[in-house]
Amino acid sequence: MHPKEDIFYEARKFNTIELWKNVTGEQWYDADWQIKNTIRSVEQLKRVIKLNSLQESEIRRTLTVLNKEGKEALRITPYYASLMQADPFNPKMLPGEKSKKRLDPVFWQSVPTPANLLFPDTGLEGAMDEKSRSYGAAYQRYPNRLALFVAANTSCASYCVHCQRAKSLNSCANVSHTEINKGLFYIGYNKNIDEVLVTGGDALMISRGRLQYVLEELSRIPHIRVIRIATRVPVVMPMGITDELLELIKFSANKFNGGPDKYVYFMTHINHYHEITKDLAIAAKKIRNHGFTIRNQTVLLNHVNDYYKTLALTFTRMFWIGIHPYYLLQCHKEKGIVHFITPIQIGKIYMKHLQGWISGITMPKYAGNIEGGGGKVILMPSGHDTFHKEFDIDDKISESYAMVHTWDGKELSKYEALGRTTYEEFENGVRIMDDFIGKKGVFVPKLIVVDNNGRHIETTNRTKLPKFEKIKKSKLLEYDVRDKGMPLTNPVVISDEIDKQFKKSNYCKKRFD
Ligand code: SF4
Repeated sequence: MHPKEDIFYEARKFNTIELWKNVTGEQWYDADWQIKNTIRSVEQLKRVIKLNSLQESEIRRTLTVLNKEGKEALRITPYYASLMQADPFNPKMLPGEKSKKRLDPVFWQSVPTPANLLFPDTGLEGAMDEKSRSYGAAYQRYPNRLALFVAANTSCASYCVHCQRAKSLNSCANVSHTEINKGLFYIGYNKNIDEVLVTGGDALMISRGRLQYVLEELSRIPHIRVIRIATRVPVVMPMGITDELLELIKFSANKFNGGPDKYVYFMTHINHYHEITKDLAIAAKKIRNHGFTIRNQTVLLNHVNDYYKTLALTFTRMFWIGIHPYYLLQCHKEKGIVHFITPIQIGKIYMKHLQGWISGITMPKYAGNIEGGGGKVILMPSGHDTFHKEFDIDDKISESYAMVHTWDGKELSKYEALGRTTYEEFENGVRIMDDFIGKKGVFVPKLIVVDNNGRHIETTNRTKLPKFEKIKKSKLLEYDVRDKGMPLTNPVVISDEIDKQFKKSNYCKKRFD
């Protein structure tokens, strides 16, 4: 049984967790307290979740190796840690979510494991030969919009293990004032720019003074129409979303604005419905009450949300609390995180089969960010396959090379979505993780096996493809189809019965003008 069938996932009560048993509600709901008390060590972690001695020493070993590489890998806010189940190696999931084959999804996203040290071959990288696209803190890839990096990549409240921006300790230094000023100058200078993504790291983890300065300066630029704020604070530390912060954003973004109001969007990052809690809903409501729209990018993560039901629930539940699913993003191919990558063909199958079963406004676009500066390439949804029937996307799965066409007409042949391995390395890696997890069949990385000459042999774990043709989707979504006696799509099929019931009901007598 799942802990509670509710639209909100229920976090563990903080004072039932050993590390925070003496913490007061006032402290817990204070963002400063959350930041000061982020989990940074295994010592703290083992007072929050159950770890056996091997798991403890393996996490310690992973952190030590990453630290020697100049990376800071562990930082979890107490709030986000409370979303992990006490025994993350045996989590309770919804029926059909393959509990026995899963680890806790928040654990996977926030605790580095030995998997981060495996499979370093990220394979073919894009050959776009990207030169620098930055001027100061501004990074431009598209004609009308750019990203302004206002925060160091180590600024985030919690670190995501799957993050494309490795938390390099060298980048602890803040983004300098000069860099930000150069970026702001360029935005004012280039009248083609009408949209700015204020990002980092996390755009809401900078000082109030810096945030106010950046927004006020943007408010002076007449050709800017939209300001987007990239933040995971609502998800990992919703108590950080305060009325005072939102007032500051609202006021500053239009303080010196002579023309039409600049519209502010919040861009969040929810990957699993276990992150959709009452506290997140309260934060989302506050953001919307200040007149902002919230949109979400979900990263498709092998081992975390690579399942039809999980995606359906994640998209629908965030939509129900006013957060619009915007992109489902293919996970980046970075050293140490290739075990999180799901083959694009599998992502396409999920997206194809979600179409119609959740409303169109709840369906994000499935896209990949092409290495080397290619930008976003839309992968799905599409109901129009130009392939010959025998190449229908439901079968013939292969993750070898693909041809990619970017938005600006570049063509990239031999694009590989997955990391590479040899048989020996793969078997060794799976053995390490099976020992760490304490059971087989949970760690199922999808990798391209290559021979000594780098030629493709096969994709690992290809047998675990979703088979929809044998299962009715209504059955797959059984908890969404709550009333089993009802027609799935057409009331006419039971119209005699509805007529009878209607005549007995109050609706038969109700009158209105
Ligand atoms: S919040 Fe974003 S930038 Fe920060 S660690 Fe997570 S994915 Fe990376």
